[in-house]
Order: sequence, then structure tokens, then C-alpha cells
Amino acid sequence: MTERVGFGTDLHRLVPGDGIPLGGVLVPCPFAPVARSDGDVLLHAVVDALLGAMGRGDIGERYPESKVARGESSRRFVLEVMHLLRERGGAVVNLDCVVDLERPKLGPHKDAIRASVAALLGVSPERVNVKAKTAEGMGPVGEGKAVAAQAAVLVEFGESPNG
Ligand code: MG
Repeated sequence: MTERVGFGTDLHRLVPGDGIPLGGVLVPCPFAPVARSDGDVLLHAVVDALLGAMGRGDIGERYPESKVARGESSRRFVLEVMHLLRERGGAVVNLDCVVDLERPKLGPHKDAIRASVAALLGVSPERVNVKAKTAEGMGPVGEGKAVAAQAAVLVEFGESPNG
């Protein structure tokens, strides 16, 4: 067995809208991310973490805007990268992540986000941890102009992912 760690981050600008998709869950609020896809920062960070654990570059290389339908769900990116991971004999051990958002408060949505991300990764919710932070009114996140996320994943391979 070989274990590999992966790390990913993302940030999207917020504008007036109908909600913020986070981990595949639409959090209702009067804001929405600016993005070619649905702008799910958490799933984008998760995809980058998975690619990182595989040593396979980043989400921008794999999914340039020309290959993304306008507003399409970011769940596809996670499912495709998970398929790649399984092809290489990998499985997720656990994922830890942080969402940086000033408002709305994510407490009421954390369990749903956790369950959604776990389902996409094919693991039980106990293997996924979701944290939420505000920026105390400072910077783009604190001023409500952006939402950001970070994710760290541990992946277990039956053999070395790079042959
Ligand atoms: Mg993104």
C-alpha cells in the first residue's frame, strides 16, 4: 500500500444571485459565484486535492473553460477524477476541508454538504470533515465579495500511482 496526500484551494467572486453551490449542495442565499461552471469552490478544491494526490496536475488543465458547459454541475469533475483514481487502484482514506464564507452561516448546511461530498467520493460521511470559517469582515471573503475553499485528501493506492 502507498498513501499520498493531496491539497487543493479555490476562490470565486460572489455577485447577487440565488444561492452558492458548496460540495454539491445549493446553499440558498442572495448571492451566487461567478464561474463558467456552477462555481462550486468546495468541489473544485476537492478535485485539485484528488489530482494532487495522483500527481496529475490541476483542474484548470483538465477542465479548461472550452470543455465546460455554462453553469454545469461540478459534480461531473469529481466523478470523473474519482473514476481516474479508481482506475489507478486508488481509494480515498479521508478528506478534510474548509469553506471561507462570511454569510450565510453554514452550520445548518454542514451535514448535507458532508454527506454529498462523501457520496461523490464513495466513502462514508465519517471520512469527510467540513469546516466553515468567516474572515471577520476583512478582505474579499470578509466583505462578502468572494467564497473560498481548501481541501486536503489522503488517498491509498494498492501500488505506486506513478508506476
Ligand atoms: Mg473554481
